[in-house]
Amino acid sequence: MLNNINNLLHIEEVALNQVAQEFATPVFVYSENALRQAFSAYKNAFNQIDTLVCYAVKANGNLNILRLFASLGSGFDIVSGGELARVLQAGGSADKVIFSGVGKTAAEIEFALKSGIKCFNVESMPELTRINEIAGSLNKIAPISFRINPNIDAKTHPYISTGLKNNKFGIPFEQAINAYSTAQNLPNVEIIGVDCHIGSQLTEVQPLIDACERVVALVDDLGNLGIRLSHIDLGGGVGIRYQNETLIDLSVYANAVAKIIGNRPLSLILEPGRSLVGNAGVLLTQVEYVKHGEEKNFVVVDAAMNDLARPALYDAFHDIVPVCVKDIAPITADVVGQICESGDFLGKNRSLAVAQGDLLCVKSAGAYGMSMSSNYNARARAAEVLVSGSQSKLIRRRETFADLWQAELI
Ligand SMILES: *Cc1c(COP(=O)(O)O)cnc(C)c1O
Repeated sequence: MLNNINNLLHIEEVALNQVAQEFATPVFVYSENALRQAFSAYKNAFNQIDTLVCYAVKANGNLNILRLFASLGSGFDIVSGGELARVLQAGGSADKVIFSGVGKTAAEIEFALKSGIKCFNVESMPELTRINEIAGSLNKIAPISFRINPNIDAKTHPYISTGLKNNKFGIPFEQAINAYSTAQNLPNVEIIGVDCHIGSQLTEVQPLIDACERVVALVDDLGNLGIRLSHIDLGGGVGIRYQNETLIDLSVYANAVAKIIGNRPLSLILEPGRSLVGNAGVLLTQVEYVKHGEEKNFVVVDAAMNDLARPALYDAFHDIVPVCVKDIAPITADVVGQICESGDFLGKNRSLAVAQGDLLCVKSAGAYGMSMSSNYNARARAAEVLVSGSQSKLIRRRETFADLWQAELI
């Protein structure tokens, strides 16, 4: 989606220096075409199975992006009442919403029940009890699936690995049968599925296939006990290329899942986040200073960890390239923000041919960029722009200083 035309980076047909000129920096820029293509890739790969793609809102919750995915037929995976409100505000339909997360509050459960969501992915027995009670008080039946922890090593960063025994997510595989039996006896829940999500930024398909096998084996065991499920949900987690990662071939994944499901009457839910938006967006930032230290050089830019937290949070790599290719000698430098934390960097030891005032493009910033941003250091949040062909549209205005204290009471 990024093209170099006459030594100038473009998204689709729009030159990035034009975006910076019109909307200032820092700014997130997304390609509508790349978003559409990422969604189609799932639809095409999984077309042999009855599949509902539920975009994981937490990756990027901008209303325009939610609206685009809704128009393509997407459902949504949410982890909070706020995300449900976003989906509804964007015009998404509640009956394609699944609700994940370990800590659903009573208020969130009530909101989701009243909205009529498709399914609660239940992560603990106390949560099951609470959902049943609240559904009872509202005279409703809550559709549920259990999030099972298949105990599979997703071989990813420990902070984003979620399928192992020692983390907080899901119900241990060994306790699944008991959990379903308990649920079967509750008056205000209806068991409809089973769910797992083993981690994020996965670069190998085998752990996903292993998880699918375990989940379908559980479906069979439950069937033998008279508990019939209508869907399996394999979560998200498909990785993207930030640097030189190998990529999961979605058709390999889909074929394996189709084979495991066989002729069982099961539909499939997927919850991709990163792989739908990550490489559809970049963060544009301007060089404020080039600082030559005694041991290190620093390129100080106007974006920081409050805009893009992933490097500081996970030591994540984002490729950083100049918007205009220049014929000057490159320096090796850390690309850092203005925040008063040593952890505030966007990239380390990068070779960059840049000078003060130049624009840099931080790649693969469409997922967990804006959605993880904050106002730390009283920094107003960046703008967001959606490019389509030769058009660029502001989809979130830059915050003002007044936005910073808007919710505060004196
Ligand atoms: C974060 C999350 C996802 C999305 O993960 P990606 O790696 O972005 O695809 C899906 N399901 C659940 C339950 C999650 O927590």
